[in-house]
Amino acid sequence: MSIFTTAVHSGHLALKPGTPSAPPIVTASGWSHEKMEDLDAALADERAGYMYSRDAAPTQEAFEAAMTALENGRGAAAFASGMAALHAALLTAGAKSGATIVAASELYGKSQALLDRLSETSGVTVRRVNIRDPADVGAALAVAPPGSLLLFEIISNPLCHVADAPALIEIAHRCTVTVVVDSTFTSPYLIRPLDHGAHFVMHSATKYIGGHGDVLGGVVVAASDEAAADLRKTRSLLGSNLSPFDAYLALRGLRTLPLRVREQNHNALKLAQWLAAHPRVTRVHYPGLPDNADHAVARRILREDCFGAMLAFDLIDAGRAEVFAFMEKLKIVQRIATLGDVATLASYPAHASHRALTPRERSALGIGDGTVRLSAGIEDAGDLIADLDQGLKSLQI
Ligand code: PLP
Repeated sequence: MSIFTTAVHSGHLALKPGTPSAPPIVTASGWSHEKMEDLDAALADERAGYMYSRDAAPTQEAFEAAMTALENGRGAAAFASGMAALHAALLTAGAKSGATIVAASELYGKSQALLDRLSETSGVTVRRVNIRDPADVGAALAVAPPGSLLLFEIISNPLCHVADAPALIEIAHRCTVTVVVDSTFTSPYLIRPLDHGAHFVMHSATKYIGGHGDVLGGVVVAASDEAAADLRKTRSLLGSNLSPFDAYLALRGLRTLPLRVREQNHNALKLAQWLAAHPRVTRVHYPGLPDNADHAVARRILREDCFGAMLAFDLIDAGRAEVFAFMEKLKIVQRIATLGDVATLASYPAHASHRALTPRERSALGIGDGTVRLSAGIEDAGDLIADLDQGLKSLQI
């Protein structure tokens, strides 16, 4: 046989019996079948079997199976980013002309922008509601036409407001509205929205799911077999699949999710308590503090003794210059505008997540020029406090 043929046809491993301890990274984009009938069945989605990686692929399926189990769903689809996951979740849930998306006004900025884009291009109506006001949500859902949907995040960015997810889902059920929950900030460790009746739960897997700052990904888990199949069809049309390498990393990260998130939550509480007593901090936004407006809701709906690993605080008499000076002094805490990593990260919402808003719009939301956001990592809390302390002491305010 010619080397040209051998080069093309050698090295394809036949899978032997036995379960590997980690999934192989399968980079194939297509699968050959000995029997044409088997290929036909795979094409018709009638029998298990791979055909083309935009439809299904093994490494991604391993990650999806783990997410399905963690969220107690019926099936999942992995995406190239959280935004791609949200897009597919909305299209699958019925975001189309004639429908209304009742959406929390406090969504992640790019999610808001995606909703605006969908309303411009697909004719779907977007109605923003105060997600912490069940009466406001109920009024919007009551007049939403059939086939409408509700979209919200459980913990908001950056002020960590908490939506009463079980109560909101119950209202949505009464109005036969499909519920999509972005649970990125909560992760399956804090709450499982499908257990409360949500139809879809999505994550930016870039955050707590991956957890190590080395993967960009997203995932949607569906509550029913039909919805999961539909979701995979939507993904196949969008082509926004997660790569096998990133699926491998996301799954590897997922293995330690409960350990990481438990520590991150405990660290966040310690940081919030310490910051709340600091003379250079006017306010700490963290639902774990007993005087926080959402403390009771958080205690009721989230895992016991967990209030999230995100927090924000306002520096006294500070604007952009003082916040920048403080952040540049930090030695352990990293200046990175993402979240959910094993490392503690600080970001400045006024120039990062909420940059697109005017100062007046930001201040209407409660985000000031002196607001700093923290994503607690798994380092020793004492070391983190010492780092924040030296940063705060260096300020001339
Ligand atoms: N949802 C939330 C709550 C987020 O914070 C983000 C990103 O920060 C996204 C969705 C989008 O995820 P990604 O950056 O992976 O596209």
